[in-house]
Amino acid sequence: MQMPSPLPLAALENAAEFLPRHIGIDAADEAHMLSVIGEASRRALIDSIVPRSIARQRPMDLPAPATEAAALAELQAIASKNRILKSFIGQGYYGTHTPGVILRNVLENPAWYTAYTPYQAEISQGRMEALLNFQTMVCDLTAMPIANASMLDEATAAAEAMTLAKRSVKSKSDVFIVAGDAHPQTIEVIQTRAAPIGITVVVANSQEEWQAALAGDFFAALIQYPASSGWVQDWQADVDAIHAKQAAAIFATDLLALTLLKAPGEWDADIVVGSTQRFGMPMGAGGPHAAFMACRDEFKRSLPGRLVGVSVDVHGKPAYRLALQTREQHIRREKATSNICTAQVLPAVIASMYAVYHGPEGLTRIARRVARFTAILSRGLAQLGFTSRHHGSAFDTLSLHTKDATDSIAARAVQMGANLRKAWNEYLCISLDETTTRADIELLWKIFARDGQQLPTIEAMDAAGAPALFPDALARTSRFMAHPVFNTHHSETGMLRYIRQLSDKDLALDRTMIPLGSCTMKLNATSEMIPITWPEFAHVHPFAPADQLEGYRLLDEQLRAWLCQATGYAGISLQPNAGSQGEYAGLLAIKAYHAAQGHAHRNICLIPSSAHGTNPASAQMVGMQVVVTKCDENGNVDMADLQAQCEKHSANLACVMITYPSTHGVFETQVKALCELVHRHGGRVYVDGANMNALVGVAAPGEFGGDVSHLNLHKTFCIPHGGGGPGVGPVCVVEDLVPYLPGHATGGIASKTGAVSAAPLGNAAVLPISWMYIRMMGADGLQAATETAILSANYISARLKDHYPTLYASANGHVAHECILDLRQLKDTSGVMAEDVAKRLIDYGFHAPTLSFPVPNTLMVEPTESETLFELDRFIDAMIAIRREIRQIEAGTWPQDDNPLKNAPHTAECLLAADWQHPYPRDAAAYPVAALRQNKYWSPVGRVDNVYGDRNLFCSCVPVSELG
Ligand SMILES: *Cc1c(COP(=O)(O)O)cnc(C)c1O
Repeated sequence: MQMPSPLPLAALENAAEFLPRHIGIDAADEAHMLSVIGEASRRALIDSIVPRSIARQRPMDLPAPATEAAALAELQAIASKNRILKSFIGQGYYGTHTPGVILRNVLENPAWYTAYTPYQAEISQGRMEALLNFQTMVCDLTAMPIANASMLDEATAAAEAMTLAKRSVKSKSDVFIVAGDAHPQTIEVIQTRAAPIGITVVVANSQEEWQAALAGDFFAALIQYPASSGWVQDWQADVDAIHAKQAAAIFATDLLALTLLKAPGEWDADIVVGSTQRFGMPMGAGGPHAAFMACRDEFKRSLPGRLVGVSVDVHGKPAYRLALQTREQHIRREKATSNICTAQVLPAVIASMYAVYHGPEGLTRIARRVARFTAILSRGLAQLGFTSRHHGSAFDTLSLHTKDATDSIAARAVQMGANLRKAWNEYLCISLDETTTRADIELLWKIFARDGQQLPTIEAMDAAGAPALFPDALARTSRFMAHPVFNTHHSETGMLRYIRQLSDKDLALDRTMIPLGSCTMKLNATSEMIPITWPEFAHVHPFAPADQLEGYRLLDEQLRAWLCQATGYAGISLQPNAGSQGEYAGLLAIKAYHAAQGHAHRNICLIPSSAHGTNPASAQMVGMQVVVTKCDENGNVDMADLQAQCEKHSANLACVMITYPSTHGVFETQVKALCELVHRHGGRVYVDGANMNALVGVAAPGEFGGDVSHLNLHKTFCIPHGGGGPGVGPVCVVEDLVPYLPGHATGGIASKTGAVSAAPLGNAAVLPISWMYIRMMGADGLQAATETAILSANYISARLKDHYPTLYASANGHVAHECILDLRQLKDTSGVMAEDVAKRLIDYGFHAPTLSFPVPNTLMVEPTESETLFELDRFIDAMIAIRREIRQIEAGTWPQDDNPLKNAPHTAECLLAADWQHPYPRDAAAYPVAALRQNKYWSPVGRVDNVYGDRNLFCSCVPVSELG
């Protein structure tokens, strides 16, 4: 037998290439798909779609692709430049133990992290139950009637509480009071948010200033409880004084403390916000963590963010769904009160699971331990000559007046492996947490002891007296988390099965493609995910000294440089923690730029009618006036109307916000002319970058005329959706706007613009995902991904054209990376709506495409480059089979109101019912294609009733008696 001739080493090294792992189709698949579309090559296809006028001028300058192993090794070297010291900094970020069963089965489990936002209620019952647990936990601990799931971070939650109060209270004042003893990053974000909408923020830095402010006119006041310095006090009189002014009392609070302390709701608070970070989510240099907002019942209809509610399905069984303002910005647009879209679902699920696992008693025990250690620490420090501020009324944080020894003690702490917080000149703060040990307390005493001083002992200090530092009158007496879900799953076996039971109800990317237009549900590779739980990324505090965060600094610097290459922009900030926040930051930059030119009057923002709802919502949040412009019958921006509006508003034009390629899935050929038109009128061009998956390597918004874009790293750059967050929404700008990128005074970033997130690097801990993606793909790989995404969308559009016409296409019939299937004519012929097809797809084992956005009664399909040809064909075949079913309705075989589409999804229970009354057989309902007999997803509930849920709003855990 003859041996094959040896391959060159370089060819063998390619054997470990990442690219073919990320891209689902191979060369043979590609050839087949091109033949269906009728193009000779991928190059020819792309050239026929991407307008020549915008084609990239320069290739992306990125490092050559690394294998998975090599990229992990390189990132490990970067991570190791972070130094993990014991953190006593507190200030909203604490050590926590993520229970192993939650770490492995939620945080590291694709069944949870690859899920989408639960708009399709039937296939999202598991994660919605977890979110309902989250809401119930927040309501119970804060003693408030209603809570959402979730906010982006504590600081933005506080800012949203401010605007919620502004639109809800009777007071007509524009003054917002903040207790100076709130976390500094919270005050900073509030100031950023207040300025453009004419709210005056008064920070009360002393008791005298606080009392003086309360004596004046204001619409709301924010109190941090326990305070940033640790102080715990009774706020009843202050809440009464605030209410006497027809104003709202807002509390920023800590859920662990509330297991022991009187809850703000018991003082009749109006809004309560906070972070759930210390319920099992590592500090991660500042995020992602789930923040929360709870409010009084009267405010619930203007509560921002997502709210899970309980409704019923067609069979009358309880079923969960997103309630009320579910897609508020989509419906209310420029009248929306908040732009939150992607939130923090995965961290919220983790916090809720932490509460389920520990239960009320476990949480209380953790809190008692923290409080006892704090009391012991305090007593020992007193023996060493340091007494705590506020007479030591504290839960977990002490503030010590260290005077001119402040710097030397802080430096000694670092030498001994610990970070303390320096605050208010001459004070050091120490915060304890779940991870604090006896050895930590002894270390802290050593840090504070002067030469020759005798050290206290734990035993002696513990024996000395009272169990906690706060007064008895502030002790919690009310019960919380009495629902069985918090009192059942306390063994690891039980917990493991509960987590599995919930995730089995849901469809995520680990079971099926999720062809959601505009959402780019591509592969979230395991190698990209692995680094996020490395200790060097997970266990560092966002406000640790800069020299301990060197790894994050490098990660930030490299990722920004690469994203500048991908977009053609000059500067980027990774601080915004969702696309909506990137929009907000980008519009702030435009506003600040105009003001600096002496053009503060430029406040008109033109937005085409097809725009995503976050665009107008963000514009109103920066105080711009939105003018909606038309689209033509081909779905493109109506250039004549845009020109007319530019002329009409020329003197006051701030910017135009477009999405490119458009939300209609088309590369508009006149985009360059559009940018030039806007610039001629003195406006700036905002290009919404949610569709960058059609552009990377092919065209760059910074080159073709955009001034600002946000990216969605959780779409184009592989951060998983997490069931509705976390996301990262970098804001990218051209040269002259760089000085207006977000700053962060607390985190040491100077800028003309304030902070937009609590942490300087936003959701820092998930940035390694996008770093890994770009590092493993390289410039050619990223371009191949874009081209394949476009190829796949065109393949679907071509194969379905005789069954469901594509609504918008370019002149040659091609689409970009997504296509809108037009189902509108089916209503007349069969009574079938796009929603019925979406629900019938569940019976076929699919997550539906984007429903009725941007055009009502259509489905927008985005397959991404990661899907295999097998999966694309499985989807196409399902859609064709459904079209055949629709023909049976059109032919009159099945009535319009009783057929497999209207009754979808079919549960096992309804199919097994003793009497089957429908005009089609049971197996046609369950197994419309043969492959389903081998691999079948069973919807846990029938179609969920939306109207019932909003009429009978109920947003906490369902009493067991009703679960039947
Ligand atoms: C997803 C999306 C957004 C909003 O991004 P989030 O991260 O969800 O806040 C904005 N515009 C478009 C076109 C989008 O698809």
